[in-house]
Parts: sequence; C-alpha cells; structure tokens
Amino acid sequence: MSDELRVTVWNEYRHEHNSPTVRAVYPEGIHSTIADGLRSYGYQVRTATLDQPEHGLPADILDATDVLIWWGHMAHDQVDDAIVERVHQRVLGGMGLIVLHSGHFSKIFKRLMGTTCDLKWREGNDHERLWVIAPGHPIADGLGETIEIEHEEMYGEHFDIPAPETLVFISWFNGGEVFRSGCCYTRGAGKIFYFRPGHESYPTYYHPDVQRVMANAVRWAAPVAGPSRIFGNRQPLEQG
Ligand code: ZN
Repeated sequence: MSDELRVTVWNEYRHEHNSPTVRAVYPEGIHSTIADGLRSYGYQVRTATLDQPEHGLPADILDATDVLIWWGHMAHDQVDDAIVERVHQRVLGGMGLIVLHSGHFSKIFKRLMGTTCDLKWREGNDHERLWVIAPGHPIADGLGETIEIEHEEMYGEHFDIPAPETLVFISWFNGGEVFRSGCCYTRGAGKIFYFRPGHESYPTYYHPDVQRVMANAVRWAAPVAGPSRIFGNRQPLEQG
C-alpha cells in the first residue's frame, strides 16, 4: 500500500538562499533531500515552498495529499493565516502531518497543540542520541535501540507541548539535556508526528535512520478509510 501514499514536503526554503553554509549541505533545498529519501521508500512525493503561489498548497494539492511534511524556521510569520486554516481543516479531516525540527514554532503546530511550543536550544555541534522508547510502535519499525547523530543543534526540556499520546523517542545531548523528540498526537481524524532532528546546517536528512523514521511516520500518519465525520441534528436509526 505504501507506494500509493501521496506525500507533500513543504519547506520555507529561505536558509538555502541566504546561507552558503546551508546551501552547501542542501544544494537543492531541504525539501528535495527529504523527498528523495521518501521516494526511495516508494511514496509518491511532491514538494511545495513558501514563495510559490498559496505557498504551494492550493486546495487541489492538499486534496491530493495523504501526508504533509513541514519544515520552517525563519519565516513562520510569513505563512498566510488562510493557508494555515486550510491545512488545519485538512488535518482535522484526516490528512497526516509531520512537523520537523524548528517547525515546533510554526503557526500550524502551535495552533494544533494550543501551547507555546517553546523549548531550550543551543547551536554548538552537540552530539545527539535518540532512544527508541516505544519499540513496538510503527514509527520504530526497522530501527535499532538508538539513533546516533554526530552533530546537531541541541533542543532541551522543558518543551511546552501537551503530553504526547505516544512518545516514540527521547533525545540525549552531550550537554546533559534531554528532549521529547518523537511525539504522536491525534486531532480530529488526523494524526500528527513531531520529529526533532534536522537543523539546516547539518546533513541530518541524509541519515538513513532519520529517513527511515520519516518513511515510517508517513505510513503511520496516513489517513484510513474510516466513516465520514457527520455532525449536527439527526433522526434516530432505530424505530422504538
Ligand atoms: Zn535549528
């Protein structure tokens, strides 16, 4: 079934233009690297970026998206509220959403969580080890006990999010901090996965285990063919 899933990878695509360092790591943009990784798992993948009309997310594209992946950082406030509303409604209707790294401060994630989503951070070549703490979860499929990332930005607790419905990963950093780095939620009929790694100046999205987590998360977050969501006044189904 996985080859039939349709994924849209959204990236604000600004650091790659502004910073030679980031461009050297992701010459075609973070979204292209993420998309290539997902294609290797057989998904139908398209990309969308902030500067496209409607941020690349017009209604017909979202209608043809099973799972949306979101990477943003420096331009969260430039995302149009009408597009955020459109994405929000699609998630409630069943579209999966995977929010990556600095997307913790995106309008869509903060709206879905209802908290500040603030955290501690440090950019200084930390070493990150993610521990799989839900070994039976579909997002952990095919992983070892830990994922090791040689250089990453540190994110530390407290992370101001609602308690995850399932916590799949906890990260450890060599500064002593820990962080809830793989968090599952449902909102309406939609599934949401927050995944921490992916600072723009490190080659994290080339890491095979990171690619596997995103591929697993797509499968987990994909909509199911459940009943339509019907609301409002109704007549009884049974007579007497
Ligand atoms: Zn970052």
